[in-house]
Amino acid sequence: MITDSIPNKQTEKQEYNRSSDMSTIALPPQEPLLTMARELEEAMAEENKAEMQVACNAIATYISESFQIVPPKVRVLGVRPRKGTGYNVEELYADYDLETHKIRLWMRTAVLEKVTSYGTFLSTLCHEICHHLDVVAFDFPNTYHTRGFYERAGILYHHVRGTPLRVLVWDRMRDGRLRINWPATMRNPGSGGRRR
Ligand SMILES: [Zn+2]
Repeated sequence: MITDSIPNKQTEKQEYNRSSDMSTIALPPQEPLLTMARELEEAMAEENKAEMQVACNAIATYISESFQIVPPKVRVLGVRPRKGTGYNVEELYADYDLETHKIRLWMRTAVLEKVTSYGTFLSTLCHEICHHLDVVAFDFPNTYHTRGFYERAGILYHHVRGTPLRVLVWDRMRDGRLRINWPATMRNPGSGGRRR
């Protein structure tokens, strides 16, 4: 995961920096989320798209209500679309519509059409919910992928899944953007368990 480049325009740069500095997020009580996440995991094991969508909407609605904002509508779709050609083919995992506040999540890989792993799918859902919180709750209309954005998304994901939070280790790239160093992050013992 790589952060977006810092924008040039002053107002956009200010938004970017505010987002980058916001490294935590107020979390709602955990228990209902753990149950919803388990239901999502079971629906995925059965490859039940309709039930997956129900569970995703339950998670997105519960989190949105804790911020007193309207929830995004989540749609679960089949095989991930591919974009690009040749060696530059990328799969689209999910997206968030800045105007309609709709989240689309694809459940199957582009090539083998296999159901994606539970961890990847839940983490992608939390990423898209963070875009919604940025736009509707935090006044970050461009919802940049900043260091703070990835940190908030990670905190939310581990809270929903009930797994210990890892402290993300970042490397600075030559162009100034930051990239998560996964091997170093995975070696990190974490920050002492769950947050409430
Ligand atoms: Zn994103």
